[in-house]
Amino acid sequence: MIYADNSATAAFAACKTKAIVRYGLGYTSIAESVSMAVGRAAHAALDTYLRGGATEKAQKSAMGRYLVEYTNHVEGGEEIEERLSLENTSTVLEKWFEAHREDQLLFYLDSADFEQDVAVKLDDGICPEITFLGRLDGIAKLKHNGKWCVIEHKTTGFVNSYWSSQWHTSSQLTGYMWAASQILGEPVMGCLVDAIEFSLLPGDPVRKCKKHGVTYRECKKEHAKWEWINVTRAPWQIEQWKRDFSRLAMAYGKALETVNADPLYCIDELPMDGTFTGACRFCELKDFCGMGRGKNLMPLLLKHDPWELSMAAKWEKKGENE
Ligand code: SF4
Ligand SMILES: [Zn+2]
Repeated sequence: MIYADNSATAAFAACKTKAIVRYGLGYTSIAESVSMAVGRAAHAALDTYLRGGATEKAQKSAMGRYLVEYTNHVEGGEEIEERLSLENTSTVLEKWFEAHREDQLLFYLDSADFEQDVAVKLDDGICPEITFLGRLDGIAKLKHNGKWCVIEHKTTGFVNSYWSSQWHTSSQLTGYMWAASQILGEPVMGCLVDAIEFSLLPGDPVRKCKKHGVTYRECKKEHAKWEWINVTRAPWQIEQWKRDFSRLAMAYGKALETVNADPLYCIDELPMDGTFTGACRFCELKDFCGMGRGKNLMPLLLKHDPWELSMAAKWEKKGENE
């Protein structure tokens, strides 16, 4: 059985070195590891808030959870960018909670199911040995039309139309819609992307904000930003995704098997597809690759932060116990 999630297969499509080092062997840059940890803490807080009924009381529990998760998982002292500090990100989240009480949400809370790790077999007769893995932030019914949709929280440095446009074709969301429809036994063709901007809020104690008429320190929370992006998929897109995912998952599984089977396998034998596809531009492994990708460099330049979702052993064990 091949277990694969979207991140690993998408990385494999863009660069085999990236897919194997990040998702197979579990190494990433220190900066990326911090930003992932902040994102995970935010997801935990959002989950607590929505599960708690999106009330003022739920906000208190969510902020408490955020503090615990952030403190436990975000390390690095001066490595942390100011925008990702506990103070800055907590202020953004507080404002998000205040603006999203139960009656302001776009989906029905009582229909919703929140954060869950899913493993769904692609059993389509072509590739029965592939299981799609995903961490779904939510599945809920939309208030405006009663249809099911996937909820996906994203935290990022800057939300603009260029960043938002990626979700209209993203294989991750197509896969999540397909997985949600398999779980529910009903079609799910839409997704709401909750894009929360973790940029540095203004906080000048002297300068006055023209918009709010007080100093930036006093109105900083009012400058928190987010956007809800509504995306849909047609049935043919989902069918195409299944074919593409199967192909990539099989190739990724095979490549990973080769690397795992040989302790002496040299990472620097893997193709650097990123230099052809342009993936290097935004790749956190740039320094590692620039220095020759030697295995001895991994503990020096990278951090071991295993991609827990794709740990096949976790799912195999679960299958055995069932
Ligand atoms: S820097 Fe480029 S070649 Fe290296 S892993 Fe990233 S995308 Fe691949
Ligand atoms: Zn202001």
